[in-house]
Amino acid sequence: MDGDPISTIAARMQRARSVLFITGAGISADSGLPTYRGVGGLYAGGTTEDGLPIEVALSGDMLARRPEYVWRYLMQIAPHFRGARPNDAHAVIARFQGRIEQVTVLTQNVDGLHRAAGSRDVIEIHGTLDRVHCMVCPYERDVRDYAELSWPPRCPVCAGWLRPRAVFFGEELPLAALHRLEAAQASAPDLVFSIGTTSVFPYIADPMYRAHRRGAMTVEINPELTEVSQWAEFRLCQGAAQAMQAIWSAYEQI
Ligand SMILES: [Zn+2]
Repeated sequence: MDGDPISTIAARMQRARSVLFITGAGISADSGLPTYRGVGGLYAGGTTEDGLPIEVALSGDMLARRPEYVWRYLMQIAPHFRGARPNDAHAVIARFQGRIEQVTVLTQNVDGLHRAAGSRDVIEIHGTLDRVHCMVCPYERDVRDYAELSWPPRCPVCAGWLRPRAVFFGEELPLAALHRLEAAQASAPDLVFSIGTTSVFPYIADPMYRAHRRGAMTVEINPELTEVSQWAEFRLCQGAAQAMQAIWSAYEQI
């Protein structure tokens, strides 16, 4: 080893058969998205215009009791998502699919940008905002821009309220996603990356912890120290796009 973490990581990538990328809001910051928490609570102040904490305004409970209120808030934050495109970090992760046998992405982001970049094995543990479904009947549809929805956003089949297929505060994680995460963990990836996430949720921190315990390479890309920094064999204190591009160039040169 020559002490350069980027080349060491790239060399390990060359031999890897399976890699797990865990991503959070930090990876989408380079796409111009504000830093979101959970389903899309703007950090600025942590409250809505009328002073409600995000955890209340975007809770499953509020959605059940006052869907119109929740939708007004979603419509307010929707312009922040409009036109967001995957950046180099999303693109490099997708590109590794052609080179490494198994590339899995575990993301907390609800912006759909990993799929937009071409990643196929994406576990969206908090769901996604670009799909809405009826709270009453099986109707659902893709929606790239909430401006496409008529107001109020009700089901064209049964007139029930629509909702994003995303996990709101106080709601359970989607079972299918949890099962896929279990399977990804069971396959013991050769390398685990934690990118742009503070890893405050145990299910986000756990794969890093387990990889560290079994001696697999762990890499953290984050300008700040986080819950999982202690288990990272390599820490790159920089933005996601810059770091992933550097790893890709080093990988290509080997
Ligand atoms: Zn319906």
